[in-house]
Amino acid sequence: MTSCIFCQIVEGHAPASKLYEDDVCLAFMDIQPVNPGHVLVIPKIHFKDLSELPAEIGAHLFQIGQQIALSLPKTNLKAEGIDLFLAHGEAAGQDVFHVHLHVIPRYREDGFGFTFGPNYRNLPERSTLDTVATQIKQQLKK
Ligand code: AMP
Ligand code: ZN
Repeated sequence: MTSCIFCQIVEGHAPASKLYEDDVCLAFMDIQPVNPGHVLVIPKIHFKDLSELPAEIGAHLFQIGQQIALSLPKTNLKAEGIDLFLAHGEAAGQDVFHVHLHVIPRYREDGFGFTFGPNYRNLPERSTLDTVATQIKQQLKK
């Protein structure tokens, strides 16, 4: 059996509270939710991270994530806001190396959020932003 817990869920070898499924993706409840209603949307095929994920499957994951997000405020959960979050790589907080899009209901003062480094409040010069923008632009696939 595969060692990937999300592949095990896709194959029906591990339990999950599923809420949506089609040929390409599966959505189920996160086992350790940030807030009640925290959903994960995954491709059925194993792709470890964004570097392996075909763009059209990524687009589909986002489309389903968007639909789930828009349904959350209408449920009894009464989400006040939603975060869509995808961690790529360990440094970004990825723990499970099977691509997944988090759909997280948010509430004012729910205690969840990003923490910022000491330099966050020092805004960079425009020239620095322009230099970085140029570097990224050069790497974008045409
Ligand atoms: P990440 O840190 O972005 O890789 O997120 C991994 C997420 O997967 C975490 O929010 C975990 O709580 C969740 N998770 C891990 N194992 C399971 C599982 N068996 N069923 C549902 N969610 C899981
Ligand atoms: Zn997998």
